[in-house]
Amino acid sequence: MTQRFSFALNATDGKARTGVISTPRGDIRTPAFMPVGTAATVKAMMPESVAATGADILLGNTYHLMLRPTAERIDRLGGLHKFMNWDKPILTDSGGFQVMSLAELRKLTEKGVTFKSHIDGSKHELTPERSMEIQKLLGSDIVMCFDECPALPADRKRIAESMELSMRWAQRSRDAFGDRPGHALFGIQQGGLEEDLRAQSAEALKAVEFDGYAVGGLAVGEGQEAMFGVLDFAPDQLPVDKPRYLMGVGKPDDIVGAVKRGIDMMDCVLPSRSGRTGQLFTRRGVINIKNARHADDPRPLDEHCTCPACSHYSRAYLHHVFRAQEMISGMLLTWHNLHYFQEIMQGMRDAIAAGRFADWEAEFHATRALGDVPPL
Ligand SMILES: [Zn+2]
Repeated sequence: MTQRFSFALNATDGKARTGVISTPRGDIRTPAFMPVGTAATVKAMMPESVAATGADILLGNTYHLMLRPTAERIDRLGGLHKFMNWDKPILTDSGGFQVMSLAELRKLTEKGVTFKSHIDGSKHELTPERSMEIQKLLGSDIVMCFDECPALPADRKRIAESMELSMRWAQRSRDAFGDRPGHALFGIQQGGLEEDLRAQSAEALKAVEFDGYAVGGLAVGEGQEAMFGVLDFAPDQLPVDKPRYLMGVGKPDDIVGAVKRGIDMMDCVLPSRSGRTGQLFTRRGVINIKNARHADDPRPLDEHCTCPACSHYSRAYLHHVFRAQEMISGMLLTWHNLHYFQEIMQGMRDAIAAGRFADWEAEFHATRALGDVPPL
């Protein structure tokens, strides 16, 4: 097993890329989708089930874990991998984004952010140095720089100032991270929708040198068209030989469009969160299992899907357990969604390797456009 963090690009097709990120905890096949394990669990899933869907890596949230059960406690208990029984790679975010979206009474200074916990009102501080310390205590394999990003739309001055602050924090994150063989630190590009600010940000990050580069500050309300507009140039501003990670994306068509534009990694709560609310992603588009049309339907959700929900249960059963609020509902529906997202990733990896990404993409969109099978 490799003892170092490395990235090998195996094939490209247009701007789409496929390769392997090697870490001491195992390989990550790219393009990769990372399920989100917010509070040291992918909700409703056993870790071995998450692995069975094809996930090579999970995302953990620094903000949630630092508040409860705390990074120090997880460290005393042997680190996040042991604590949550997941021995494959883990990427942790820096906490910055969630402080901005969840915490109360935030105060932003050059040094960092002070805030009150959304759980119990206790006061905390996050700085680049503290974020690096927490992610080290957690034992994260891929650590993210501490950054700041405004919700869009925001004026250019605010976006520029925020990007420049994030670049100063990127250098402080790098300094605090130190030399940790086998662990990676990713920089995060900011700059909103502005091509020149994104270019400036990319140059600043490249000067510091990171093991991978994230496109940050997207999926914050700008819409798919604007996001793809940025992805038409942003990945090209980042190094070719390092992984590129689009944070917090997205729906299946967002993911496919991002990979087409040169993104290697993504994460999103959507498949797990939607599983708990009865929304299912399938090859033929979105299905709402609470809809009355499924009540007497003996067919599987998707006859071609090999996940447990589709292999062993009918739409009628899935509809029933959802309506009855049985726990197995969240379990089965989340499993299906995560399985489907990983199936998309595998399909894209195979298609890129075979040089037929455009055909795969055309079929992906054509099948979705069919919509769900007609009711019985
Ligand atoms: Zn399924």
